[in-house]
Amino acid sequence: MSVRVRYAPSPTGLQHVGGLRTALFNYLFARAQGGAFLLRLEDTDQTRCDPSYVQNLYDTFAWLGFGWDEGPDRGGPAGPYVQSERLAQYTAAVQRLLAEGKAYYCFCTAARLDALRKEREAARSPESGYDRACRALDPGEAAKRAKTEPYVIRLAIPLDQATRVTDQVLGEVVWKNSDINSDPVLLKSDGFPTYHLANVVDDHLMEITHVLRAQEWLASTPLHLILYRAFGWQPPAFCHLPMVMGADGKKLSKRHGATSVDEFRKNGVLPQALINYVAHLGASYEEGVEIYRLDELEKLFCLDKLNAAPAIFDYKKLEWFNARYIINADDRALAAAALPFARAAGVLREGDREAEARFTAAMPLVKERSNYLGEIGEKLRYLFAEPELPAAVEFTPKKSSLEDAARCLQIARGLVESLSCLDDEAAEALVKERAAAASLPLGSLLMPLRVAITGARVSPPLFGSIRLLGAEKALARVDRSLALLQRAIEGRAEA
Ligand code: GLU
Repeated sequence: MSVRVRYAPSPTGLQHVGGLRTALFNYLFARAQGGAFLLRLEDTDQTRCDPSYVQNLYDTFAWLGFGWDEGPDRGGPAGPYVQSERLAQYTAAVQRLLAEGKAYYCFCTAARLDALRKEREAARSPESGYDRACRALDPGEAAKRAKTEPYVIRLAIPLDQATRVTDQVLGEVVWKNSDINSDPVLLKSDGFPTYHLANVVDDHLMEITHVLRAQEWLASTPLHLILYRAFGWQPPAFCHLPMVMGADGKKLSKRHGATSVDEFRKNGVLPQALINYVAHLGASYEEGVEIYRLDELEKLFCLDKLNAAPAIFDYKKLEWFNARYIINADDRALAAAALPFARAAGVLREGDREAEARFTAAMPLVKERSNYLGEIGEKLRYLFAEPELPAAVEFTPKKSSLEDAARCLQIARGLVESLSCLDDEAAEALVKERAAAASLPLGSLLMPLRVAITGARVSPPLFGSIRLLGAEKALARVDRSLALLQRAIEGRAEA
């Protein structure tokens, strides 16, 4: 039997990182087993679904770089399956249950259900849920009434049985059917199926072999199993994935930080880093290994390595993964990923090819020092526009005077032309030699030069910056700084 799994989101919000975990694990399991991974949009709650969220789902998959395998042919890429396009299947299924007496029409109005709830509250009754009043109606009579009256169709839960599931992660879980407080609605008054009906019918028709979904759906599982039994269908294997929590042990939410894949993307997280981090949420791989490419995970993933305990989402750890991916990225790919951030921050203009080439060439200067893509452009801003001149004291190494700084910068100026065409090693040797000749510590030459070139005492590597700027621009910056120092010295003399 070949493995078939699905990711079945309801497009009622932006893709959550917990949803990404579910999608990823399904995808990886399918790949590891040589099976198929399906995407199914569970959009039967029309009041909560929105096309923009469907678009967000597609954008998310496109950005992540993995996707689903099959679905209806719409003339473009196959799929996904969309439940609102499959209403006939659900109606047919529910009609079968009606005919077999396993489901029934319910005409109870919202007003009646409300009154029932209030009555119970007043009487402090422990009962809750639907009281199964319409279950006693004569099926023939009910079918007649259904022609003229609004109705829903409910599942008649066999109350004398128990339902048991052997979950691949949680082990055996047993529910007494009589504890299920309602006969759940299968078909709503608008003719749309509920989640339970559509989910089970589709998992059956799509021949899903394993349901890997978040643990919050465990409570629905007995209902689903009862439905499988009612239909006489073989249920899939269930595998409820551990919850994703914040550091405080509460379900991950906005209070903890970013939660939607979109936010991580906008914060400058690389898709490969997010995938790699999320792959660890509730699963383990090889002892001591953390960095995995998607194709490696596709081979390693297995259900035996899933944990039952909740996974804690650690933002710092994700940052660490992102920094690792930035360090190891190919310069071109990294520049392409970082460019949109740099443009948005006004570091360089759209379509300026020369600046873009310089940006790409500057990646080695910053990749070891950046945790997020947005930092890359910010760190390199000085390469694309003359930095604001800092105060004159910024040029003076400890305990030295403005005159010393100006003299050192003047000496350093004499090296700029050569530095612009030497590699790091040769550049350093040259500056050392010059410093020794002038009996100056190395830093006395480098510090003012760094401030002149980059505008700050702390910056990406100086020699690489000079090479990227070229001698002409670098010299102009040094001259500007020398003039500033001169003005400061004169100003002080006057004062
Ligand atoms: N539509 C459900 C969701 O939004 C699917 C749950 C399941 O996988 O059965 O997550």
